[in-house]
Amino acid sequence: MNRTVRKFIQDAVLRDRQAVVVGTGKSGLAAARLLDALGARVRVADRDESITEDRLGPLAGKAELVTGPHEKRHFEDADIVVFSPGVPVKKLAPVLKGLPGQNLVSELEFASWFIEAPILAVTGSNGKTTTTTLISEILEKSGRRVFTGGNIGVPLCEYLLDMEPAEIIVLEVSSFQLQNCRQFKPHVGLFLNFSANHLDYHEDLAEYLDAKLHLFSQMTPDDTALLHESLHPLLDGRSFTSARIEWFGPTDRFEAPHLMGEHNRSNVEAAWQAVKRFGVSEEQAAEAIRDFRPLPHRIEPVAEKGGVLYVNDSKATTLDAAEAAVHAFERPVRILMGGVWKGGDVAKFAGDIEGRVTAVGLFGGSRDILEPELAKHFPVTWDETLEAAVRRQAAMAAPGDVVLLSPATSSFDQYANMAERGADFKRAVEGLHE
Ligand code: ADP
Repeated sequence: MNRTVRKFIQDAVLRDRQAVVVGTGKSGLAAARLLDALGARVRVADRDESITEDRLGPLAGKAELVTGPHEKRHFEDADIVVFSPGVPVKKLAPVLKGLPGQNLVSELEFASWFIEAPILAVTGSNGKTTTTTLISEILEKSGRRVFTGGNIGVPLCEYLLDMEPAEIIVLEVSSFQLQNCRQFKPHVGLFLNFSANHLDYHEDLAEYLDAKLHLFSQMTPDDTALLHESLHPLLDGRSFTSARIEWFGPTDRFEAPHLMGEHNRSNVEAAWQAVKRFGVSEEQAAEAIRDFRPLPHRIEPVAEKGGVLYVNDSKATTLDAAEAAVHAFERPVRILMGGVWKGGDVAKFAGDIEGRVTAVGLFGGSRDILEPELAKHFPVTWDETLEAAVRRQAAMAAPGDVVLLSPATSSFDQYANMAERGADFKRAVEGLHE
């Protein structure tokens, strides 16, 4: 526990105050535990009626649990309301009416009140986890004590409760977290790229961009906003931050033998621009970058069979990520796509991958969205399962081809998550004859 949390406890800032936490995911429960440690009375609200007390873990029997549709009476006595990432706060407006705005905060923002170390926050439509992890590895290998979390791994509230204070806080932040942030302020904010994503959730692209820009709104001229050059058309002339702005793009400054594709040259440059502000030398960064391996399910080579390379990019849940993967190969690509649609311009995508892709193997959902446009450019097949699609492409592939799972969708039609989809792909590839 750090000094600021202890001081809050000593000063009884939240003692006996009524707190409401919305959502019982990992982040919500961590926020509930922190509020409890601060002496607040904690109520946890979740719309899911099947949730029972045991979900509250150490707070079972201590915190109040209310389930089912949110009601005004669950909120009207609240001194503070903390939202889990992804809670659609706009829709909660009727039950939150009358509560002061500054007391309605996201888990990330609430935790950030107590953070003493500088925060380096990474957002963007694609590449967040890769770049966040790379940044942390460079900093750690250069001898810094780092906490890495936010949207990945440990929620920030949990860090405050259970871990030794770090020198630098490196956070991956999603639009879900950012849309409920008003006061959150990183020392360095990194915006990797912006493309159609989560349009199943956000009202439109403008709302999604607004959420992302909350990251920068409280920054001052002592802070740095690192922006990818592709964001010029969206951000030029727009007033969204007082931070010092610096632009970056792909370079050949570093050797990154395990990270394929131009998009990763951008990610590497972004990581360097971020870490150099923390006293890391170019040599230290170069060594960490040289050793960095792609994370599972992100353009991850799985096997080479009969001269055909099989690549698992299950994490590609957008068309931009799939396009980046296609362009990472000099070899002809047979791309496997399909699942739950999240938005994007298929006609444009088809044009952008022309000349690289020789066949499209669709599987599962979104055939109706993908097939009409893709079939104008490529031979397209469809199978119900990923395994059948893998077999079909394997049977048709020639030595030198790449069979790439880069589905450009989320996986929830057939899998619990993208990791399961990637594991299923690996199994299917293992089952192929040499
Ligand atoms: P996120 O955490 O934003 O989802 P990941 O690092 O997990 O990002 O990568 C998700 C997908 O996006 C992977 O398929 C990866 O190859 C691809 N990707 C990574 N960086 C970029 C980038 N800068 N532009 C486009 N696609 C990218």
